[in-house]
Amino acid sequence: MASFENPIKHQVYLSLPEDMYSPLAPRRVESPSLLALNKALLDEYGLSSNWFEDAKGIHFLAGNGDYDDESPVTMAYAGHQFGHYSPLLGDGRAHMLGQLQNAEGEYVDVQLKGSGRTPYSRGGDGRATVGAVVREYLISEAMAGLGIPTTRTLAILGTGESVMRDYQMVPGGIQVRTGTSHIRVGSFQYAYATMGKDGVQALADHLIEHHFAEVASREDKYPALLEAVAVRQAQLISQWMLVGFIHGVMNTDNMSLVGETIDFGPCAFMDEFKAKKVFSSIDRDGRYAWDQQANIGYWNLSRFAETLLPLFADDSDEAVKIAEDKLQTYIVTFQELFQKGLMAKLAITANSKEADAFVNQALPTLESERIDFTLFFDALTRVANGEEETELLSLFDNQEKGQVWISEWNSLKDDSESALKAMREANPALIARNHQVEKAIEGAMERNDFALFHRLSEALKTPYTVSEENRDLQTPPAPEERVLRTFCGT
Ligand code: AMP
Ligand code: MG
Ligand code: MG
Repeated sequence: MASFENPIKHQVYLSLPEDMYSPLAPRRVESPSLLALNKALLDEYGLSSNWFEDAKGIHFLAGNGDYDDESPVTMAYAGHQFGHYSPLLGDGRAHMLGQLQNAEGEYVDVQLKGSGRTPYSRGGDGRATVGAVVREYLISEAMAGLGIPTTRTLAILGTGESVMRDYQMVPGGIQVRTGTSHIRVGSFQYAYATMGKDGVQALADHLIEHHFAEVASREDKYPALLEAVAVRQAQLISQWMLVGFIHGVMNTDNMSLVGETIDFGPCAFMDEFKAKKVFSSIDRDGRYAWDQQANIGYWNLSRFAETLLPLFADDSDEAVKIAEDKLQTYIVTFQELFQKGLMAKLAITANSKEADAFVNQALPTLESERIDFTLFFDALTRVANGEEETELLSLFDNQEKGQVWISEWNSLKDDSESALKAMREANPALIARNHQVEKAIEGAMERNDFALFHRLSEALKTPYTVSEENRDLQTPPAPEERVLRTFCGT
């Protein structure tokens, strides 16, 4: 049996103001089991899997360990949910065990999600379902495979207990989530509301010390922090949009300040391109639709900026001016990255009026022709690399329109090696298709069958190349397989 050595040796959040957290161990569970361990991620961290596969390690990850008095902690935060402010949300079903150190010596947060009630649970049961943790595993690892900053899933466990969802008893699960930080826009909102300037400053200093060292020595370090956070958000959201990802619940409590994707709820990659696409069953007004995400990023950053104003200047008009100036960087950066990314997807590098018009019309064309987003850009990439046009053309509803589009593209595209390389890197061949994810969840929940889950998690590690045996995973859903809504009741 492997020797027991817990690699989680730090708890950086203990140095925050006490109001920001409550020390609390996870609730014990009956008979935990390891459903999946992310060995590739352990390798990345430079850790051996032995400890995690050991019975003692499994109990530790499920909430049954002998934890220190001070850590784990559950964290407090506020947040705007669908535009409405809640003064206290917090980790209602999560426990921050602490940090491990990766091979580079950097701290990595290790948090359990679904690990029991906390002071912030309100009416919730503190639990998660096996389905929800399977979903977060697949989509977070798909994100990582795509090279998009994200929290990760180190392991998922079954609790051996049932939880009630939609008047049914379903198996309970725990996600072992890792990430660079779990400080959210909502953390700043909470600090601001409960402690004012001092609380915000403590939180800002924590972020700068651990995650934004590049601004530490600047005289205007707090405005510089806002700008750095804004740039990371612009990078993140443009990357989401360029692969057709819809986060689904971009509430301020679900926006991480280090620019990693966090809190995968009713998120999804879209199949057919539709700018106003929404999956979440609770997003009735399309607040978090695909094409709203950049605006919402700005809205959320504005809420963050408001909390920082007292640190910017004593004069409030001046502080607001500084904030607006820094937030402008978000807009400029997003627009630049999105446009650049779209051009890379099309292998267009020319800056002519004609090329601009063509690039700007590309997505509306996909929408009016009802074309699958991922299939389209993958087929386009293959044509750019010498393949026949037949498959690409077949994606268009209107063949004549398709012919015209393709010939115009042929006349504009850049055939240089660097453009083709950038095109391949911008166009994944494989995404976590919603209907496959749902099938994997169904198998896991209803038959304890993890075969599709394992197959998907393996294939999604290399989304830019698809092996022959995984070709079927590229296929969009048949009409009867289509998933119209994803749910948060998790
Ligand atoms: P989310 O939309 O999943 O990010 O969650 C919003 C808030 O609800 C957070 O404060 C969560 O901790 C809390 N929450 C979600 N599900 C549960 C649950 N089953 N039990 C307790 N709190 C929950
Ligand atoms: Mg406390
Ligand atoms: Mg959340």
